[in-house]
Amino acid sequence: MRKDILKNVKRVVVKIGSRVLTDDAGALDMAVIGRICADIAGLRATGVQVVVVSSGAIAAGRSELGLTAKPRTIPQKQAAAAIGQTRLMRAYEEALAPHGLKAAQVLLTSEDLGSRQRFLNARATLDTLLEYGIIPVINENDTVVVDEIKFGDNDNLSALVTNVAEAHLLLILTDIEGFYSADPRTNPDATLIPLVKAVTREVERAAGGTGSGVGTGGMATKVGAAKKAGKNGVPTIMVSGKREGIIAAALAGRDVGTLFLPGTDGLNRRKHWIAYTLKPAGRVMVDEGAAEVLQKKGKSLLPSGIVRVEGRFDRGACVRVCGPDGKEFARGLSDYSSSEISRLAGRKSSEIEKILGYRYADVIVHRDNLVVL
Ligand code: GLU
Repeated sequence: MRKDILKNVKRVVVKIGSRVLTDDAGALDMAVIGRICADIAGLRATGVQVVVVSSGAIAAGRSELGLTAKPRTIPQKQAAAAIGQTRLMRAYEEALAPHGLKAAQVLLTSEDLGSRQRFLNARATLDTLLEYGIIPVINENDTVVVDEIKFGDNDNLSALVTNVAEAHLLLILTDIEGFYSADPRTNPDATLIPLVKAVTREVERAAGGTGSGVGTGGMATKVGAAKKAGKNGVPTIMVSGKREGIIAAALAGRDVGTLFLPGTDGLNRRKHWIAYTLKPAGRVMVDEGAAEVLQKKGKSLLPSGIVRVEGRFDRGACVRVCGPDGKEFARGLSDYSSSEISRLAGRKSSEIEKILGYRYADVIVHRDNLVVL
């Protein structure tokens, strides 16, 4: 069954966590990086294109700053990343060179990918690099981002990259064998789950909070990444990156780690971008009737169903659409700014022009720009 799923994989995003790339002392582990790059070369030789999403910049920079613990302040992290990113890239270059392969550095921020134009531009750049046979190595541009615009962690970034790169598989290399029924470090009865058919609430609950001391993510963010990749129609395999030959084994369909199936409710690439890459700028609260037609009938959001708007945003912003219980059930691009929406709330579409003196559209969020979550 795994073999069937994997036989058409021609482009894979390989996400490599800090814990995989560093040794016990927290320095870059060249032996592991060498093995991973040998594996990547093996994949390339079978015609599979590889995009790497690599953490490890902060970890690699930490020792250069003489820090013994994980950096705490944001400027410290950013300084560590600035130093470490060049070392990280050098490590990939050195490890790929013996295989006749070259690495290219691609640093992204969530603001970059939040612009449709830059998103498509990043896609074209990745395509071009891959055509030249080069291995793009992506990381977040840690030195320039501030907290509210961060991707959060590279697990999340790697899931978004499956969309940017139009990849067929997300392979997450981490420091445990896969996804367990409970945390194996604290629960001796935890068992490895080879197949997750869908990322349900129970699966999310079993993934719990974050874990490792080196990287940013944990099992929860990995499961979250598998869910997002799945919404993009992409399966995820999570394996231990410390094991020799693991990439080849995973791609060959061997029973290693955990395979997360993508599910059947995939979104088109643009809607996936709206739902997961854009950062929502505000909330639009709607009444029960509107919540129902949006969710069940796939209609656009009209001003008449809106009760209230929260936050300040311009026309074109991504907004959360929330029902009477206050919970977000959809996300979309707003045709009106928050101040316009507050004037239009509860009114008919035919009144828009009279109220504002102009009209961009009859709807607040068009169904083509709306994703029910
Ligand atoms: N961008 C961070 C780094 O390279 C890693 C973030 C993460 O571990 O998720 O150090």
